[in-house]
Amino acid sequence: MSPTSPMPPQTSFLSYVTPSPTSPWGTYLSQVDRVVPYLGELGRWAETLKRPKRALIVDVPMEMDDGSVRHFEGYRVQHNLSRGPGKGGVRYHPDVTLEEVMALSAWMTVKCAAVNLPYGGAKGGIRVDPKLLSLKELEKMTRRYTSEIGIIIGPQRDIPAPDVNTNGQIMAWMMDTYSMNTGATATGVVTGKPIHLGGSLGRVKATGRGVFVTGREAARRLGMSLDGARVAVQGFGNVGSSAAELFAQAGAKIVAVQDHTGTIVNTGGLDLSELMPLLRREGGIGTFAGCEKAADEDFWDVDCDILIPAALEGVITAARAHRIKAKLVLEGANGPTVPEADDILHDRGVLIVPDVICNAGGVTVSYFEWVQDFSSFFWTEDEINVRLDKIMVDALRKIWDTADRHKTTLRTATFAVACERILIAREERGLYP
Ligand code: NAD
Repeated sequence: MSPTSPMPPQTSFLSYVTPSPTSPWGTYLSQVDRVVPYLGELGRWAETLKRPKRALIVDVPMEMDDGSVRHFEGYRVQHNLSRGPGKGGVRYHPDVTLEEVMALSAWMTVKCAAVNLPYGGAKGGIRVDPKLLSLKELEKMTRRYTSEIGIIIGPQRDIPAPDVNTNGQIMAWMMDTYSMNTGATATGVVTGKPIHLGGSLGRVKATGRGVFVTGREAARRLGMSLDGARVAVQGFGNVGSSAAELFAQAGAKIVAVQDHTGTIVNTGGLDLSELMPLLRREGGIGTFAGCEKAADEDFWDVDCDILIPAALEGVITAARAHRIKAKLVLEGANGPTVPEADDILHDRGVLIVPDVICNAGGVTVSYFEWVQDFSSFFWTEDEINVRLDKIMVDALRKIWDTADRHKTTLRTATFAVACERILIAREERGLYP
């Protein structure tokens, strides 16, 4: 190209992904646009953040229990590896798409940098409703998917972990499959494993604990006491239920819970000592007796002080943002708030602790697990929880100072802290070749 001819316009990373302003990747792109003014000279690298480094789409064929053969689509996206190996969960859900996995991988890049872990960001998923599979089918699907993405994962390359509808058992099958294929037991290839296979104490509840720690700090700054605070939780799986238990232990009342089986409300506070065993037994909260049942949409009108979205992305829409009563929103889920809703809540004086710091407790203890696996030396649960608390508190303090300095939201401040670290790494490594 001659020096005078204009550069062709830069197209999006994958031309067949068409993000909308409220879709996960569209939301992420708008969050990047908002941080660029705070990046100074580093802003010239901002396009790096808008392009995943690598995206793998895999076919997962499987012989079902009834003898039929079905094909599932799987993904692993490595968004950015400038600061270290990829890190991010694997999601099994019927709505998983490449676009969603791209966004989730990008948020992992930002999250890992926000808490200063030596990782890049990645994410994976299979477009499947795992509730319709038998245990045997779930294992076969997991093993085939792991083999297919085995060409890009590894303890020094990209380390998966649990996310929606995946758990320690699925991580055990992934670790075993990778180890069988490579000929050596590789405990460090995934985190969130069972304790006997190199898992870490405290990992299962770590994301919920991080939500609690950041919520506790935010409440303190707002002058809100947790004793008696009314909390509403959407999504009562790993993240939502662990966070709810910690808030309840701190004296808060869990006044509403929603999951895929229904919405339950009790203004006097739901009794978690009865709700948790029912959840374990039935896999959902919909049949709980000690409460009123509400229409799912009414969840967003519940009178509460703290709202914890801990299910899926895009649930806090502009319309719902006008109705939310909480003064504090703790984003346990990834990407629950669309950009327009973000602005509405901000204008209404509602404080949002964004996903990229609020739910970083999980990846932080995943990092502890990975370090313990490499050193074959395991820490006590107390050591883990104390270190987690300190990392989260220190990270949030730096983010809060940045927000105060730039007079911006905690989300943009988290992106500013994280993107500076990512882009410094990018600049110092230089472009190859
Ligand atoms: P999970 O599978 O344990 O729980 C998901 C919960 O969401 C369940 O209670 C389910 O019933 C509920 N849910 C699903 N669809 C719903 C709907 N349409 N309406 C209401 N509720 C619905 O998953 P998880 O690990 O708790 O993850 C929840 C969120 O937290 C996700 O956004 C995930 O990406 C994020 N996250 C998880 C971790 C982790 O360590 N597990 C870490 C960081 C972020």
